[in-house]
Order: sequence, then C-alpha cells, then structure tokens
Amino acid sequence: MSSRVLVALGGNAILQPGQKGTAVEQLANITHTVEQLLDIVEKGYELVLTHGNGPQVGAILIQNEMSREQVPAMGLDFCGAESQGFIGYMLCQVLHNECMARGLKKDAVCVVTQVEVNPDDKAFSTPTKPVGPFYSQAEAELRMAQRCERWIEDAGRGWRKVVPSPEPKNVIEKEVIRELVDRGFIVVASGGGGIPVCRDAQGRLYGVEAVIDKDLAGERLAQDVHADTFVILTDVPNAILNYNTPHQMPLGKVTIEEMEKYVEEGHFRAGSMGPKVQAALRFVKDGGDRAIIARLDQVLAALKGEAGTQIVSEADQE
Ligand code: ADP
Ligand code: MG
Repeated sequence: MSSRVLVALGGNAILQPGQKGTAVEQLANITHTVEQLLDIVEKGYELVLTHGNGPQVGAILIQNEMSREQVPAMGLDFCGAESQGFIGYMLCQVLHNECMARGLKKDAVCVVTQVEVNPDDKAFSTPTKPVGPFYSQAEAELRMAQRCERWIEDAGRGWRKVVPSPEPKNVIEKEVIRELVDRGFIVVASGGGGIPVCRDAQGRLYGVEAVIDKDLAGERLAQDVHADTFVILTDVPNAILNYNTPHQMPLGKVTIEEMEKYVEEGHFRAGSMGPKVQAALRFVKDGGDRAIIARLDQVLAALKGEAGTQIVSEADQE
C-alpha cells in the first residue's frame, strides 16, 4: 500500500544563509532539494509539498516599497500570492526536469492557496511576526504614525514591521488539492503558510495583513489530503532538548505525552522549533499516523524511522 506524505520544506531548502537570492542560487538549492524528495517518490510514497517563503516575500516587499512612486504597492496578501507563484514555478519546473532525467512519469502542479483565519483570532490584537526589510528608528516611527503599522526593534539589527500570526482554520482550495493528489500529481500548495483570508458577514473572502505559520498551515493541509505522515524538513536533524547547551539531547521516537511534557518544560523556541513541535503534535493528536521533524538530507532515512524526531501516539509505541 502506498503511503501519502506531506512534506513541509524549511527556508534552507530554497535559500541558504548568506546567499543573495538570485534565481540561479534558488534553482540550484531547489534542484538539490528535489533530488532528495524524488528518492522518496521512487520508493512509492505519494508526495504533497508545502514550503516557507520568508526571504522571498521579504524581497517582494522591498521591490514594492522601492518602486511605490512608479507602480502601486501591493498588500502583504498579494505579495504572499506572488511568492507562492514563483516558488511553485521553480519547484514544478525542477520536478519536471528531474522526473524526466529519472524516467519517472510524474507531473507536478502548484496551487495558489488561500487559508482562512478567524478575524477574532487574538493574534490580531498582538502582532508578533516580523516581515520585510530592516529600517532605521526614524523611518519606523514615521510609518507607525502615518500608516497605523506596528514596528519593533529586532535584536539590535534595526526596526521591522510586525504582523499578526493567526491560526490556520481552513484551506480554501482543499478539495481541488485532494483531487489532484488522488489523481497522482505531485502538488505544491499553501506556500508560506497560505494567503491569509477572512470571511465577511456574507461569507465572502477578503485578504488580510498577516502571516500564517507554514508548519501549522502544513498540518491542516496534511489532514485535508489524508496524509499518513507529516514531515517537517528543516536545517537541524532533530528536535533537541536543552538546545544549545552542553546537555543538549536529540529526540528520536517520542510519544505525544512525552513531547507535551518537553513543550511544557520550554525546550522549543517560539518562532522556530516551537511551531514545528506544535504542528507535529497536532497532526498525531488529530489522528495522523506519524509526524516527523528531520533534516532535509535525511528524509528517506526519517521515513524509514531511522532518523529525525518521530512523534507517534502512545498506542503505536512498541
Ligand atoms: P525553517 O526555516 O526550516 O522552518 P526555523 O529556522 O524556523 O526553520 O527553525 C529551525 C531552527 O530552530 C533551527 O535551525 C534551530 O536553530 C532552532 N531551534 C530552536 N529550538 C530548537 C530545539 N529545541 N531543537 C532544535 N532546533 C531548535
Ligand atoms: Mg530558518
């Protein structure tokens, strides 16, 4: 029986630290990423993909800011859609080329995806997610006064705009996506956590200025496509206890109960490993077979249960 896997790719799958973000760099990284992913497709796993978009949407925001005198600047929802489109383009093109090279008969498609959030989500009253470029304090103060935006000083690196990070509630295109997956296509969807949208009193959708966590949105999508396994691929091989201390300890196979205890003890940082662990736990608690946090180059070993952090429900623990 073939197993369906939803893979959430971290930022480093598309852009490495220190790189500028040229098309050549991004396509080269994606080629490397796709090679790893096709190894699992060749083993018979059905693949659904989602990905981050931080640096890419950051670049689009700079382009919008710098040319706003010539071309109308677009909102964050439009910028998110743009980033999904071009990252999806790169992934689908490379998937096409690498499948052809391997003689694999697989087609890939990207679905520009909206994800519904609750307008009453408490995140809207406390924006926390930094987006876009760094500015000087003077500029930040001007923007706060002129545009009702919230800005924060980001770890001594300058001032940055912050936006709300609400909970993903519903993937609008979920039926289309599931249909495509059922038909055997490799689907790229919900990039950057999806384009956040709300519904008005008539049920009509409208875009909002927010960023949804890509791992939490990936978990929703994993449920929607009935994935057996939810795999979060990042730049560390495991979720680690006592991270960055002399007593750090990588986690292998853990139960929901054990992982919840570690969360409570504060081992996983908010904004990085925290949401990954939360998303992984949610998947297994909602009935998924297994959630994995692993490093990209270990994806195949992780699916075999030989690498990464594997979260399973108590019942499955041998
Ligand atoms: P991605 O771009 O892959 O989504 P993030 O940068 O958001 O990745 O999260 C991965 C990072 O989380 C790691 O590079 C690591 O520095 C950090 N991290 C924080 N706490 C932990 C922990 N307890 N175990 C492992 N990594 C952690
Ligand atoms: Mg990162």
